[in-house]
Formats: sequence, structure tokens, C-alpha cells
Amino acid sequence: YTIEKATALDAYLCDHLLLTDPALEAALKNNASANLDAIDVAPNQGKQLYLLAKMLKAKRILEIGTLGGYSAIWFAKAVGPEGKIITLELEPEHAKVARENITNAGFENVVEVKVNPALKTLAEMQKEGTEAFDLVFIDADKENNPGYFKAALAMSHVGTLIVVDNIARRGRLIDADSKAVDVLGTRKLFEIMGKEKRVEATAVQTVGSKGWDGYAMALVVE
Ligand code: SAM
Repeated sequence: YTIEKATALDAYLCDHLLLTDPALEAALKNNASANLDAIDVAPNQGKQLYLLAKMLKAKRILEIGTLGGYSAIWFAKAVGPEGKIITLELEPEHAKVARENITNAGFENVVEVKVNPALKTLAEMQKEGTEAFDLVFIDADKENNPGYFKAALAMSHVGTLIVVDNIARRGRLIDADSKAVDVLGTRKLFEIMGKEKRVEATAVQTVGSKGWDGYAMALVVE
């Protein structure tokens, strides 16, 4: 395995399977012009999230970690004009770029970007009695993955899917003496997820244009 070959293979898959979407392409270009790190999901992973949302017939999606709104636009495409995406972002500059991209894609009435540390917004949403979500995508600071998972579960119903991105981190997850907060946060997440009776969960490693990583998914069953 080399990153060059994995990237080339991803390009092949994307060329063959993905419809060209000018709004998604424009979002990536705008992110680059605004100097946002290219840490959005890969196009084929975006399409996978879109398909998962469609399979669930999701209408309400919660995303933690907006960046430039690339994955939020994929979700908006899946839920249709009556759907709702709430996406949480810490950095006002990222949120500004995301709102531009979302408006350019025609989804300004579907996607709401909330700016603040996500744990704070999540606590407020729970206090307000926010209606449960059909799908939750956790893709922010990995340190807080345990808190994000607990909040996601609190705002779920039976049938909600919780997806957590970047769980493998080039194998760093199992580095025995790691003190990195992202690694420790994600390990804690797996401890909680593995013991949680309300979900059935799995995790899958991936390799592609974004390197060696993976995602976890948990279906709420009670
Ligand atoms: N989901 C996006 C996509 O695929 O297009 C990518 C999200 S990027 C990997 C992670 C984002 O989480 C960054 O924009 C970062 O600023 C944001 N973030 C980091 N810490 C956060 C926090 N405590 N609360 C909310 N967002 C946070």
C-alpha cells in the first residue's frame, strides 16, 4: 500500500461512481482559497454518508464539526428541501466559509450552522428539548468524542445511526503509550460504545486519498 496508489484508486472510483456536483466542487475550491485544511471527508465517503442518510430516510441530521460545510452539503442533498441539518462548529471563520458554500449550493434553508464549542451547544440543545435526530455524524475534536457520543445518544430515537469519523488515525489508536488527547478520547469512546446496551456498533478501517483511517457506526436499538 502506498498513499499515491490509494489516492489514484480513489480517483478511479470517484470518476466512475460519483455524479459531478458543481456545488460540492465549488465548496472545496472555496475552502482552499480560504486556507481551510483539506480535512473534509473524501468524496466517496461523502457519498457513503449521503447513501446512509437516504437508506435511513433521514430528515433530521446532527453534525459535529462543520469545517467548510462539505459533508453538510452531502447530507443536505440526501434529506431534501423538507429536511434539517444542524451542524456545530467552533471556529467562526470556518462557519463563515461553510455558510457561503451552503448558500451557494442552495441549502441555506436546510442547513443551520451553530458556532460555539460543540459540547456547549449540545448541552443547550438538550436543555431546550431538541427533537431527536435520525443520523448523527461526529467529526470534530477527537478528544471530546466520548461527550459527543453521549450527547448524540441523548438526542436519538430507536433507529438513529451515529457515525464517528477518524477512528484509526494511521494505527495510532492502539499505540500503547500514546498520551495524545485524540487517541485517548477515541479509546474512551470505544469503551463507552462497547458497553452501551442501547446500541449495536461496528468500526471499519479505511484507506484512500485521506490516508489510513476509519469510522465507527452505532445503531440505536433501544
Ligand atoms: N465534517 C467536515 C467535512 O467533512 O466537511 C470536516 C470537519 S473537520 C475534520 C473538524 C472541524 O471541527 C473543524 O472545522 C474544527 O474547527 C471543528 N472543531 C474542533 N473543535 C471543535 C469544538 N470543540 N466544537 C466544535 N467544532 C470543533
